[in-house]
Amino acid sequence: MLKTRITDLFGIEHPVIQGGMQWVGYAELVSAVSNAGALGILTALTQPTPEDLTKEIARTREMTDKPFGVNLTVLPTINPPPYEEYAQAIVGSGVKIVETAGRSPEPFMELFKEYDVKVIHKCTSVRHALKAQSVGVSAITIDGFECAGHPGEDDIPSLVLLPQAAEALDVPVAGCGGFSDAKSMVAALALGGEAIVMGTRFMATKEAGIHQNVKEKMTEADELSTNLMFRTMHNTARVFKNSVSDQVVEIESSGSATFEDVKDLVAGQRGRKVFEEGDLEHGIWSAGISVARVKDVPSCKEMVSRLVSEAEAIIDGRLQSVKA
Ligand code: NAD
Repeated sequence: MLKTRITDLFGIEHPVIQGGMQWVGYAELVSAVSNAGALGILTALTQPTPEDLTKEIARTREMTDKPFGVNLTVLPTINPPPYEEYAQAIVGSGVKIVETAGRSPEPFMELFKEYDVKVIHKCTSVRHALKAQSVGVSAITIDGFECAGHPGEDDIPSLVLLPQAAEALDVPVAGCGGFSDAKSMVAALALGGEAIVMGTRFMATKEAGIHQNVKEKMTEADELSTNLMFRTMHNTARVFKNSVSDQVVEIESSGSATFEDVKDLVAGQRGRKVFEEGDLEHGIWSAGISVARVKDVPSCKEMVSRLVSEAEAIIDGRLQSVKA
């Protein structure tokens, strides 16, 4: 058993959290993760309306009686969603764990506190983590530069960012970005992390509702298989390297590109089709550098059990054996 303040806080068996993933975080995956003893997280904005989110929460409850959470991300979007209504759908459904991301959770904290919701805020810098702590979040996920999606603009990898955050904060910190297996999990615990948050690794599981072609492509990837786009727009996103993301990077290299110049290429609706139909070159899809470490497509239960038992073996075996 690996026990931390985060396992206690969320009432979960293992210090493992499945991060919010746009177009991936559906009830089937989330319930499988929670049933495996980790914390599954639904993605609010993957549901087209707040009413659909309410239904998806109910569907998740039919598949698990274990704790799960909902991710609410506030970032630049092509069609800005009604965030406040999504937040109301979350509390109205009785969900008690929320992962906020993208912007300070401050505007939502009063509502979440009123409903006894525990907030884990995902951010990419110690200064943003301190701000989130000051407005009352229960925990922080610190996103290192390796992460999928939006790693921020500071480019600090988990090896430095996680201990910096863990030492600066009073609330427990989960490491995100680069974590995918027992070796990196033990490293996160050694660095002061009290859980790992994995997105990419959970995409390549049997229960993730994305096309098999995507999962197989992930098992063939290496450490050079991601691109960073939107660097010039201060909305950096780490995505899988394909012809579409190469094109976006190329357009941005002119130095004068605007979002309008890449909008049609990057639209989330195109990326969604990659996941649904399996045409890997149809659009943008997110992946972290840890995709290099994805070698198979197990069930969530197999993956989490293996992760934890191998982590315990490293702690009891290899780490003890290097002690003189
Ligand atoms: P979308 O189709 O609205 O936008 C596609 C991409 O373009 C996103 O990365 C978005 O941040 C970016 N973008 C949009 N407008 C922009 C602008 N004016 N300037 C710079 N960049 C801009 O996105 P979507 O796929 O429908 O996703 C909805 C939202 O969720 C986006 O904000 C996205 O970044 C965010 N997101 C959430 C998660 C999660 O796990 N919750 C993961 C990845 C992205």
